[in-house]
Amino acid sequence: MARLVMKFGGTSVANIERIRNVALHVKREVEAGHQVAVVVSAMSGKTNELVAWCKDAAPLYDQREYDAVVASGELVTAGLLAMALQNINIPARSWQGWQIPILTSDAHGSARIEGVDGTALLEGFDKHHEVAVIAGFQGIHKETGRVTTLGRGGSDTSAVAIAAAIGADRCDIYTDVDGVYTTDPRIVTKAQRLDRVAFEEMLEMASLGAKVLQVRSVELAMVHKVKTFVRSSFDDPANPQPGTLICDEEDILEQQVVTGIAYSKDEAQITLRRVADKPGVAAAIFVPLADANINVDMIIQVVSDDKATTDLTFTVPTADFERAKAILEKAKPALGFGDIQGATNVVKVSAIGIGMRSHAGVAAKAFKALADKGINIRAITTSEIKFSVLIDAEYTELAVRTLHTLYGLDKV
Ligand code: ADP
Ligand code: ASP
Ligand code: MG
Repeated sequence: MARLVMKFGGTSVANIERIRNVALHVKREVEAGHQVAVVVSAMSGKTNELVAWCKDAAPLYDQREYDAVVASGELVTAGLLAMALQNINIPARSWQGWQIPILTSDAHGSARIEGVDGTALLEGFDKHHEVAVIAGFQGIHKETGRVTTLGRGGSDTSAVAIAAAIGADRCDIYTDVDGVYTTDPRIVTKAQRLDRVAFEEMLEMASLGAKVLQVRSVELAMVHKVKTFVRSSFDDPANPQPGTLICDEEDILEQQVVTGIAYSKDEAQITLRRVADKPGVAAAIFVPLADANINVDMIIQVVSDDKATTDLTFTVPTADFERAKAILEKAKPALGFGDIQGATNVVKVSAIGIGMRSHAGVAAKAFKALADKGINIRAITTSEIKFSVLIDAEYTELAVRTLHTLYGLDKV
């Protein structure tokens, strides 16, 4: 007997027929003698609809009420799946986040899980022999007793956190693709499915835009050593494929230099022209942004024609673009820059691979390949196992395909 967590995303529970199909996947594991906790997302499109309703009700909505609203999508699917399981004679009950409880911080809209009490779930397995069907994406802040949500894509994190709490042997993330690919298979048909991907690489891929797993879920899996697979809910429930295992780097036999290409449209560029070239200026610009919780990502500074000033370019998340510009405009008299320019039609394309640690010139090859396609690079960042380029959004697919081919990732 093993103990499993099975997580099903929005597309996998999009309607009652698919929920019945999910019930068959769960049945397979129950009949194999396993104890099963299932984590579900809201039906696909539901969370977007709920978010839009919040914005419509009050543009500057109360974040706590936002969480009360958007957490509701998962409640529906948890109840429906419990019913579908009972209907095929599998004992099951639904669990809302607060009932377990899943304790989180009070950062409404993007709360972090602080603790999961697995006692009641384990009791459900031992005493009642029932499947636990848990609403993903949500928790409760203990001190205020308010419902919280974990940020978009947060059900992945619910699943891994629960797996760690109940000491699960495995956490299976079922989704609409059959594993982690070398890049988003929806934009590159030649993308290849990976049998294994290292935690560090998956972490970078997720944070650089591959939305197949929420970043925090990969962190938790890495820290708590949760054996996590990404696999398809559309496989035949009687004969499913194992999918992709997220594992330690040592467990990967054939390491490529570049493992994957990711892209993120969640970038906006800000350029400050003719900033005084003297000590303390960078601090004067970036400290107020940090104080406002705005994450600055790529930064480049170049000397202006007049040699006395510099141009400073950096990126912020799209959602913070207007706020960042407003903060800088306000600080303009003190900072004394020339003018401020911005662009939101930009995208960050990144290449990730542990093999970059031991190979020189990996990024340089990409700059040449992109230039050959006429793609202009606005900014660059590199770190030990990845590099990113900021380019015009219209070249996203061309850039991703170019790098995918360049690093030998195309399916043959
Ligand atoms: P779910 O609703 O099941 O949580 P998501 O839409 O959040 O599913 O994540 C799955 C999607 O992630 C896939 O449909 C795919 O388009 C996208 N994706 C992006 N990058 C990758 C990648 N490298 N490998 C697999 N899928 C990826
Ligand atoms: N339903 C939530 C979302 O759409 C959480 C999830 O699907 O993981 O972001
Ligand atoms: Mg998801």
